Amino acid sequence: MSPRTGFGRSTIAVHGLPRRPPDWSPVAPPIYQSSTFTNPVGSDEDVRYTRYGNNPNQLDIARKYALLEGAEDAVFLASGMGATALAHLAVLRPGDHLLASAWIYGGTRALLDDELGRFGIEVTYVDPTQARHWRTSLRKNTRALFIETPINPTIRIADLDPVAALVDEHGLALLVDATFASPINFRPLEHGADIVITSATKYLNGHSDVIGGAVAGSESLIGEVVRLLRVWGQSIDPHAAWLIDRGMRTLAVRMERHNANGLAIAQWAEEHAAVARVHYPGLASHPDHELAARVLDGYGGMVGLELTGGVAAVEGFLARLQLIRHAPSLAGVESLISEPRLTSHAKQTTEERAAIGIPDGFVRLSCGIEDADDIIADLDQALNG
Ligand SMILES: *Cc1c(COP(=O)(O)O)cnc(C)c1O
Repeated sequence: MSPRTGFGRSTIAVHGLPRRPPDWSPVAPPIYQSSTFTNPVGSDEDVRYTRYGNNPNQLDIARKYALLEGAEDAVFLASGMGATALAHLAVLRPGDHLLASAWIYGGTRALLDDELGRFGIEVTYVDPTQARHWRTSLRKNTRALFIETPINPTIRIADLDPVAALVDEHGLALLVDATFASPINFRPLEHGADIVITSATKYLNGHSDVIGGAVAGSESLIGEVVRLLRVWGQSIDPHAAWLIDRGMRTLAVRMERHNANGLAIAQWAEEHAAVARVHYPGLASHPDHELAARVLDGYGGMVGLELTGGVAAVEGFLARLQLIRHAPSLAGVESLISEPRLTSHAKQTTEERAAIGIPDGFVRLSCGIEDADDIIADLDQALNG
């Protein structure tokens, strides 16, 4: 149940805060495909303008997402990267230092490495599995910490609780990208995060037909993100917002199936001779299994597979797949598979990837909501080749 509302998350995902509507209201919300809105003559209230992020479609999904995360407020942006960029700019100033997890999405890594420096923001990295490294890496000018969990593509889980204690002690901001969990499986604000970031392109929308992102947190932090989104032009299109609203209505039931399929496929793959190692937090063999069991409400649909035959085996395996599509991105209703060395982590060298647990021969499977038996049968025929 979502503590502040008295409603469960499935109900909130469908309705937002359920309210009895006036008679003759549409059951499905209209799309406000309008850039601008009439305003009262002489009014000094904020004008309504879609670039400002205050179109009703944009506001509806923001309220719903805030409730799901247990946040005071939230805002949607044009992409997950837009959300990540503006969340960082909202808390960091020239001269500040950002301490970031080294195990993050490649696009985020490029943002931190190539862009924040222009604003006079220093960034250094720590191994997120070594809790004490956060403390020893703090500098006088450290202003914020950034963590991605579950971690792409090894599905390692970061323990936020000790980091949150450190952040409290030093008055810092903790930003967490929890895209791989969705608020159904994990809510970082319950573990001391100040800002949660999600790529709505993934589980929130869930149908691989929209690009969007969201940030949730306190009213004051979200107010700052909104101020930035207006001047940096990062608002989400009303039609994309409407599609995300539709997608979110089934978020809770989709996550149930993603969680069940992820576990079934990981357990099956662990027994297969052509698979050297399976990365899934629901398996007892996963290094973070105990933490995952404690903090997650579901282990998700993302499974990492290392094939015994390395890159050569991977290419044959991918070419033989019939049901599972070979495509980057994740978290849609259909199963997708990709090689991180050629997609999310292409900018890094083989050695750099190996150091963060991604050897060549690693494939990342996003289990869709098809029948688990059919996904398994496709994997089996492709592995047996
Ligand atoms: C996809 C992804 C992003 C970027 O989101 P876009 O919507 O593609 O901009 C950021 N973080 C994680 C963990 C992701 O998987």
